[in-house]
Amino acid sequence: MKNIVLLGSTGSIGRQTLEVVRDHADELKVSALCAGSSVEAIEEQIREFKPLLAVLYNEKAAAELKERVKDTGVKVLGGMEGLIEAASMPQADVVLTAVVGMIGIRPTIAAINAGHDIALANKETLVCAGHIIMPLAKEKKVSILPVDSEHSAIFQSLNGEPKESIAKIWLTCSGGPFRGYTKEQLKEVSVEDALKHPNWNMGNKITIDSASMVNKGLEIMEASWLFGVGYKDINVLVHPQSIIHSMVEYVDGAVMAELGMPDMKLPIQYALFYPDRKFSPAKKADFYEIGKLTFEKADTETFRGLALALRAAECGGSMPTVFNAANEKAVALCLDKKISFYEIPDIIERSMDRHKVIAEPTVEQILDAEREAYE
Ligand code: MG
Repeated sequence: MKNIVLLGSTGSIGRQTLEVVRDHADELKVSALCAGSSVEAIEEQIREFKPLLAVLYNEKAAAELKERVKDTGVKVLGGMEGLIEAASMPQADVVLTAVVGMIGIRPTIAAINAGHDIALANKETLVCAGHIIMPLAKEKKVSILPVDSEHSAIFQSLNGEPKESIAKIWLTCSGGPFRGYTKEQLKEVSVEDALKHPNWNMGNKITIDSASMVNKGLEIMEASWLFGVGYKDINVLVHPQSIIHSMVEYVDGAVMAELGMPDMKLPIQYALFYPDRKFSPAKKADFYEIGKLTFEKADTETFRGLALALRAAECGGSMPTVFNAANEKAVALCLDKKISFYEIPDIIERSMDRHKVIAEPTVEQILDAEREAYE
């Protein structure tokens, strides 16, 4: 039996993780459920999965939850202390971090310090604090198992090969709903258009990030930390069918890829059972039906978010945090219809221009850089 602590249980990845747990009820058990403020959603999950501990980051919501689940005997906590207690609980085998944003950093550090493996779905953790997380994981002999579909594909394609034999990584992306658009066309798109992702079923924030290609930029930084490959050796490859989830090219020219249907439950399940493979009831790829796979170069002139991400990555230190925080704020404004989709990169660029880079920021300095960018 594998005990899972789930950070971000009511979001898209969290709910899909619980579907995987349902499919493998005799092998997976949820020890803790943690979410932001969704009282009703987490109550339902508590009654079904009967964890030892439940946490809501919002203290007021946590107090309400405590009242509502009194009859279950489940311990309820609130705030960052609650998240940290869940992440470091001794019963856990693996901590799956699917919270959105930088609130994932401290609980992830706590989980590593407690010696738990990390199934990582929170990009910000590595984008902002990769220089803290990766050496700490190595020191504590903890595995960081990627849940992001591209990184899971790279991880699966690397299986056992030494780092020295990697020539480059081909990081695939669908191109999103605006693939092939010109700048002029992109100026006219609405939030609703941006929320229509052709292939993947994801939360709103990441769906917007996919449409702007900011997500791919964050994934380049994430891949660089996870696999120790420089940015210049990571090629973004637009692949509209989303069947190839990423590839590794080796020094001898051989290319390994992981292919399958675009379904997040596959990388989630792989991370939870690693190194074993288990049956999945999900739909399988039918190559007769798929017919063809096509590839294009990414357009960084039109999709400026990707170009800015590369600039942030090259600059390093606290700059990726500013890139990420400015994007978070800009996406929230876009979802509220306060700015247009096209203006997202403008806000990111202005925040980056203003920032004075700190080379090796501490967690405190990362959170300061976040606040500064928000303002
Ligand atoms: Mg991804």
